[in-house]
Amino acid sequence: MSWLPTLIKACYFLAALLFILGLKRMSSPRTARGGIVWAGYGMLLAVLATLFLPDMHNRGLIIAAVLVGVSAAWWSGKRVAMTAMPQMVALYNGMGGGAAAAIGAVELIGYARGLGLLQAVPDTSPLRPEAWAVNGLPPALSPTELALGVLGALIGAVSFSGSLVAFAKLQGWMDKRFVFPGQRAVNLLLLAAAVVAGVLLATSHASPALIAAFFALALAFGLMMTLPIGGADMPVVISLYNAFTGLAVSFEGFVLGNEAMIIAGMVVGAAGTLLTQLMAKAMNRSIGNVLFGSFGAAGGEAQAIEGAQKPIDASDAAVMMAYAERVVIVPGYGLAVAQAQHKVWEFAQLLIKRGVKVKFAIHPVAGRMPGHMNVLLAEAGVPYDLIADMDDINPEFPATDVALVIGANDVVNPLAKTDPASPIYGMPILDVSAAKHVIVIKRGKGTGFAGIENALFYADNTRMLYGDGQAAVGELVASLKDIDA
Ligand code: NDP
Repeated sequence: MSWLPTLIKACYFLAALLFILGLKRMSSPRTARGGIVWAGYGMLLAVLATLFLPDMHNRGLIIAAVLVGVSAAWWSGKRVAMTAMPQMVALYNGMGGGAAAAIGAVELIGYARGLGLLQAVPDTSPLRPEAWAVNGLPPALSPTELALGVLGALIGAVSFSGSLVAFAKLQGWMDKRFVFPGQRAVNLLLLAAAVVAGVLLATSHASPALIAAFFALALAFGLMMTLPIGGADMPVVISLYNAFTGLAVSFEGFVLGNEAMIIAGMVVGAAGTLLTQLMAKAMNRSIGNVLFGSFGAAGGEAQAIEGAQKPIDASDAAVMMAYAERVVIVPGYGLAVAQAQHKVWEFAQLLIKRGVKVKFAIHPVAGRMPGHMNVLLAEAGVPYDLIADMDDINPEFPATDVALVIGANDVVNPLAKTDPASPIYGMPILDVSAAKHVIVIKRGKGTGFAGIENALFYADNTRMLYGDGQAAVGELVASLKDIDA
């Protein structure tokens, strides 16, 4: 079957095309759903084609493993609540990094066997069958393959353990910012030691002990690097690990000579890098600062917040907005928890019918994953031209009669601008306090992801409408209908 390798390459080419076109479709909310499906078909094609590689071993085992993975992902994907999606994404991202690191480990062990440092045993590697053709020993990896294999394993292992910590933090299983004295020095030492071990491996010093030490150091670095990161920095870290996983897969694809892995990994790596840059820019931070510094590192006394929270009931809040000229709605993580997006859109439509100019303002890190609010509002059918980014809407707040904040906290906290001791100091925020009136819907006095007080809730022009997001907006809808009746 001399045509088989050509057919497999053609499938890889088609898969790569589907990845790239799928990604292109993801650039607009209108086509994003289709983009995911296209990329999914691309991956299915690539996996099926790989099974037909000549001399592929252990097909039964591979298919069994794929079935276990697919069933677990299908089962959990169907059940996951929209609010738990970010931690699920972090977990799956970690799995990708771990898989790349595992490939690196298999290659390095094979390489050590080739050097006679491990006892040669008959091949069981399904991934690199040709490697074992000669006397049961793998051919030497070229220096480039060896270097990329080590680099991919390092990045993949860091992404694996780091993403697991991110998952635990998003799940609420772990303190958001675990800090101890000398942490930065420990992290730098771990990184330096992992790099030295990697360089030794890449320069033909492979030994079982060195391979084990290399992976232990890389995993420990990923863990330790993510522990002190918390609060508003998490989105940058999550997208950085996404980019890491893509790069690691791509490097290991190069070692295995698998074009589909190289291209898929590069697409993820490039998209993840761009997203990381966007997130870092939105947070007004450099990536190095996120990894090796921390918000509010200056320390000092936290600014005291004066005054008291002033409640308002739904009917008064509805009257304020019914007779307003401009209303800006600011959704946050609480909107996702309450699944209030449909009710909010119903409320906005009633206002629009009365001639009120309504806009939705989205902070780039609102919610718990990039684009979280956009996804929710798109699901509810909010037209894209009513949705404004932070940079576009901020100058409009002074001319806004009512800013309606629903379940947002950190992204509207003025302390980010005024309190150098605050853990979110320096993070750009939505300037809602500049509006004439602010109405905040939240259940009580709960803090946001960063775990800090919010000066906005105590401001003179702010009124608190306490309650679950969906129920409170439901009351606003009912009150507005009463006014119209
Ligand atoms: P926050 O997490 O700051 O605040 C959410 C608020 O919603 C809480 O104060 C809570 O108050 C309220 N809330 C919770 N449930 C409900 C409910 N059912 N009804 C009404 N209100 C509710 O959200 P933001 O969107 O303002 O900020 C996002 C934060 O998450 C930022 O710090 C960001 O850095 C971080 N983050 C973002 C990621 C991303 O990629 N976007 C990823 C990881 C972290 P109460 O309990 O009183 O109701």
